Amino acid sequence: MPAVPRPNLGDLPDSPYAAELRRADPHRRFRPELESEYVRIELVRNRALIRTVCTCAVALSAGHMVEQIVTGLATPLVLAELVLIVASSLALAGLSWSPTFEQRYLAVANVLVPLRSAVAAAHIAQAAAHGETVLLMAVPVMLISAFYFLGLQFRTSLLSASLVAVSFVASACLSGLPLPLTLRSCVYLLGTLIGGAIAALQIETRTRGSFLESHLISELAQRDALTGTKNRRVFNEHLVRIWQQAVADRRSLSILLIDVDHFKAYNDRYGHLAGDEALRSVARTVQGFVQRPLDILARYGGEEFAAILYDMPSGEAKEIAERMRRAVMDLGIEHRGSRTAEMVTISIGVAAIEPSDDRECRGALQLADQALYEAKVRGRNTVELMDDGEYRLLVTGVFSTDLARFARPSEPAPAYASGAGRGR
Ligand code: GH3
Ligand code: MG
Ligand code: MG
Repeated sequence: MPAVPRPNLGDLPDSPYAAELRRADPHRRFRPELESEYVRIELVRNRALIRTVCTCAVALSAGHMVEQIVTGLATPLVLAELVLIVASSLALAGLSWSPTFEQRYLAVANVLVPLRSAVAAAHIAQAAAHGETVLLMAVPVMLISAFYFLGLQFRTSLLSASLVAVSFVASACLSGLPLPLTLRSCVYLLGTLIGGAIAALQIETRTRGSFLESHLISELAQRDALTGTKNRRVFNEHLVRIWQQAVADRRSLSILLIDVDHFKAYNDRYGHLAGDEALRSVARTVQGFVQRPLDILARYGGEEFAAILYDMPSGEAKEIAERMRRAVMDLGIEHRGSRTAEMVTISIGVAAIEPSDDRECRGALQLADQALYEAKVRGRNTVELMDDGEYRLLVTGVFSTDLARFARPSEPAPAYASGAGRGR
């Protein structure tokens, strides 16, 4: 099958998945937040396997304990070992079927699996020294099952499996298992350990790679290809969700529509590629002001961006918009075709709203749109704020003509401001 071409990772400077893929070391642990996400996803994916091995462990260890008791071979020490093995198997099996599996299984398994496996290996070596050599067959199975108990995680499983081998050899030496038998068992154990480790490493390398790539693909589907900001679809979905949350939490919302001034003239003068570069710089700069977890910046269309600032009173939202405007001006991107300034500038319309059940997010967006229009009419390179006062003038999605009072009669109407169809 031909390899799927990987996207240009340089286009995603703030993606943790792209950063890990750039490090290009599939064996290395990820950064902590990503590592715990990966471990959690893999654990859930391997749950059926873990349940199966835990349940088999209970059946086999309990059966063996009953057999030892019935045949009278269970000395107090052997009985203590078997109780520990059965109890830890039961605890692991219980957790594998419990609703708290995701939160608790791994923490418990990281302790119980090595302990249980080491005790079981020691028990088998003792039993073999007393003539029950048939049990030796179970040691490689236990060694391999350490990988399954821990959801095929390479490092912890390898540690656990190695402990099985060491415990077996130590117990064999202490309990007087004949040396040739011990050595032959060691060879088989080493072979099983190496085989299991190679398989687990290969599986983990593949799953780590596909974890990063699948997350990267879903990130790419949310982004605008040119600027790397979120795309309009994600913005619309986020707006609906965050609006409902703001209604429930009784929080305010500010929506910012940000439009580059005289951008057609910029393209005409400096060329489309320079225009693309300017758009990227503007996006990077504006994104610097939209960093909180519930906030979002998206490319809304051509040379226009939209931002949502959650729980942001109107005064602060206007202040942030002012800082964005100044920061873009401070980039100093030359724009001799602009009738507003000598450099690239932006105009921002801010709608600061108290969402409620009887209001619609579409209305808030429309208010921001109207505020942007006013910013353009007032001369561009400026911020215009509209809040609840103006929102009340919205009539079934259409603005009252009262809002015309915002327009300066002396300003020429912008080319796109012909009512309904605005040029974006
Ligand atoms: P205003 O100040 O009124 O907003 O004027 P404007 O020229 O910015 O507005 P207009 O809507 O007339 O033109 C927008 C321009 O943005 C037209 C288009 O060539 C340019 N544009 C849109 N998307 C892109 C893009 O992805 N790359 C580049 N280079 N230019 C784009
Ligand atoms: Mg524009
Ligand atoms: Mg525009």
